[in-house]
Amino acid sequence: MATARPRGHGDMRAAARTPRRPVPKKPSNPSLKDPVGVYCRVRPLSRPDQECCIEVINETTVQIHPPDGYRIFRNGEYRETQYSFKEVFGTLVVQKKLFDVVAKPLVEDLIRGKNGLLFTYGVTGSGKTHTMTGSPGDGGLLPRCLDMIFNSIGPFQAKRFVFKLDDKNGVDVQCEVDALLERQKRDAMPVPKTPSGKRQIDPEFADMINVQDHCKVEDVDEDNVYSVFVSYIEIYNNYIYDLLEEAPFEPIKPKPPQSKILREDQNHNMYVMGCTEVEVKSTEEAFEVFWRGQKKRRIADTQLNRESSRSHSVFIIKLAQAPLDADGDNVLQEKEQITLSQLSLVDLAGSERTNRTKAEGNRLREAGNINQSLMTLRTCIEVLRENQMYGMNKMVPYRDSKLTHLFKNYFDGEGKVRMIVCVNPKAEDYEESLQVMRFAEMTQEVEVARPVDRALCGLTPGRRLRNQAFQEELSRKLEMRGGPINEETEEQSVAEMFLQSLPPLPSCELLDVNDDQTLPKLIEVLEKRQKLRQMLSEEFAKNVLTFKTMLQEFDSSVVAKENYLQGKLSEKDKTIARQKTDVERLEKKIKTLEYKIEILEKTTTIYEEDKRNLQQELESKSQKLQRQASDKRRLEARLQGMVAETTMKWEKECERRVAAKQLEMQNKLWVKDEKLKQLKAIVTEPRNEKPERPSRERDREKPVQRSVSPSPVPNAPPVRLRHRRSRSAGERWVDHKPPSNLPTETVMQPHVPHAITVAAASEKALAKCDKYMLTHQELASDGEIETKLIKGDVFKTRGGGQAVQFTEIETLKQESPTGRKRRSSPSNPDPAEDATDSAWTDVETRCSVAVEMRAGSALGPGYQHHAQPKRRKP
Ligand code: ADP
Ligand code: MG
Repeated sequence: MATARPRGHGDMRAAARTPRRPVPKKPSNPSLKDPVGVYCRVRPLSRPDQECCIEVINETTVQIHPPDGYRIFRNGEYRETQYSFKEVFGTLVVQKKLFDVVAKPLVEDLIRGKNGLLFTYGVTGSGKTHTMTGSPGDGGLLPRCLDMIFNSIGPFQAKRFVFKLDDKNGVDVQCEVDALLERQKRDAMPVPKTPSGKRQIDPEFADMINVQDHCKVEDVDEDNVYSVFVSYIEIYNNYIYDLLEEAPFEPIKPKPPQSKILREDQNHNMYVMGCTEVEVKSTEEAFEVFWRGQKKRRIADTQLNRESSRSHSVFIIKLAQAPLDADGDNVLQEKEQITLSQLSLVDLAGSERTNRTKAEGNRLREAGNINQSLMTLRTCIEVLRENQMYGMNKMVPYRDSKLTHLFKNYFDGEGKVRMIVCVNPKAEDYEESLQVMRFAEMTQEVEVARPVDRALCGLTPGRRLRNQAFQEELSRKLEMRGGPINEETEEQSVAEMFLQSLPPLPSCELLDVNDDQTLPKLIEVLEKRQKLRQMLSEEFAKNVLTFKTMLQEFDSSVVAKENYLQGKLSEKDKTIARQKTDVERLEKKIKTLEYKIEILEKTTTIYEEDKRNLQQELESKSQKLQRQASDKRRLEARLQGMVAETTMKWEKECERRVAAKQLEMQNKLWVKDEKLKQLKAIVTEPRNEKPERPSRERDREKPVQRSVSPSPVPNAPPVRLRHRRSRSAGERWVDHKPPSNLPTETVMQPHVPHAITVAAASEKALAKCDKYMLTHQELASDGEIETKLIKGDVFKTRGGGQAVQFTEIETLKQESPTGRKRRSSPSNPDPAEDATDSAWTDVETRCSVAVEMRAGSALGPGYQHHAQPKRRKP
């Protein structure tokens, strides 16, 4: 016998192997979570003249507004509130629609081995029971769920007692023979006398199960066998009662029902210990069981003076499933392969507050407790929501009430939880409905771990179908050979049949010696038996033969099938091989293409590099060109400047020379005029009159005046004369002899005592002396070398330099005897003389400069040209 327990948040198989080990608290896949699905159903008003306070806005939203005379004023405003749900069902929505949307997925999950919880919540009279159970002629979710389950698993149900629930919330599996024996045992037991012994549904409710929906789960695993177990409990006053418990009928003094306790199984699922769980094989049977519980509930209500709207009713549907063995014949006797899932359908007590019903005494306590368990449900949901939303780890007070404790595992384990909020739109329920809506909206924010898919068993699928086909074939063949097989005798053992067909043995007691009847009778019977035996053994041999041939046929068919499959396999192999070669070819192609791409990429990079280099080169060249162009422009500008400067300098020079020449010519002209005048005077005046010296002096001065006047150069010396050194202190000379001078063989060489002889004008030397003499040589117009001694005084300038003011020029000239007669300038100082005059004017023009040399000048020693008044030594 094998055992399994409902799927919980732990791995069932792991727990089965090591039952002592605590199962991890966390669900197996915490990342996959679904929110609690909350739906809202608005029932129609009982009377059309009732005031309504709830409107369905759209498929997901309802709006609730305070009724007249119950208006909330907030800032003087009339307040309406909207609530959103997964789906809202209006007054016209039929049960089937509700079932399709809300319950169908839960049934599908149940058949796939996952747990589900569906509860209805709302105030009394809001339609919870109508929704869950239904009303006469209008079945609710519960009968519809049962119908769908049996529609889906109907043909795959296990024989009764193949699955056996144990008392620890687990399930066992046993072989069909054991199950048969147990069935026979139960059938043999006398039926207990119970008040509900008739087991009949009230005729007015009987049609609730006639849903005529034929709704079923499409992809049921046909290689599994299934069994459905139902239990029905009630939680009243925080006590759990088993509504299916068969208490012995005591008409005089009925015993009050015994409450049950909650236990936790090894997978941390909660269960009601010792609760009756009935295996049911059809919707009718299941609903009949439900109705039994319902009746009991009503009896308790009347007998114990209670109100059913104050209790929570829980109808639990458990589905056990296990795979068929490899032959597809019997259930696999492996407990690891059994799956037990459950769907709990809960019709909660009315959520209204105590004072509304004006409950008193016993009722008040009940109401208080009911509210307490609903309050606990609210608190649990709130804490769960906070924990999930804010990542907190507050303890959820499941244990505070039986209701929450029983369903604890749905919230912190895995499963699908759905809630239908029922509301009556009538105005009297406004306040309660508001509370219901708030709770429902909050519940939507709680998430529950999604159950993981059940692992498939390792056996090949389609076993049941194959086995069925084989059985059919076998029975057909047997029928052909030896008449039909009575289905009823199938279950009876062959031995029984044999024994029944034997003639009974007569009494073997020999009481009389003369008894000659007993023995022959015995012999006769024995012979008959012998004959029968022979017949049977012949039949057996025949059957064996038939079976052998059948087996052979089967074998051959199997072989043929195998061959066929082999052929197909080899074909597939060939296809695979072809595809493989194709794949290889394509892979090669891919490789070559990749190689090409690589090469192209490399080439591209090389080209790009080249391009970059060339661009850089181009850039540097263009920069260079630009630089050169700008250099050229600068040079041009400079040259132009220089040209302009030079031109200006030369123009000035030319102007100066022209002016000098003009002056000279004017002087000559004047001298000639003067001479002419003198001659005239001589001619016209008496002979003794001689020209006065002062006049000559004046005359001599005059041209200087005239020569100065056109000149733009100031005639004042650039220095103050008082700086001149005293002559009495003894003169010292700078004898400036340029190295280009040629040595002359003159007899009278100029000799200056204590002179500093320099080759170039030297400021240092000038600073030490007060006289300067420049020996200048030039080629005279007659081709002879003319040496001039240009003399001047040295002055200190204001800027700290030295200035020379030329005072006189001494001309030394050599003449060949063939040419003009040689003269020494000082020897004939007469200014009136023509030749001399012309000779010195030229030199004087050229030397009418003063040289100023300044120490520490940035330009170094420089020359400044000044026109000087002509002065001649007398
Ligand atoms: P609850 O179980 O919440 O106390 P019930 O299901 O017993 O409420 O409903 C009270 C009455 O209202 C019942 O007679 C029921 O037939 C009726 N009723 C509830 N919901 C609907 C509905 N959607 N359509 C028609 N009648 C309804
Ligand atoms: Mg009800």
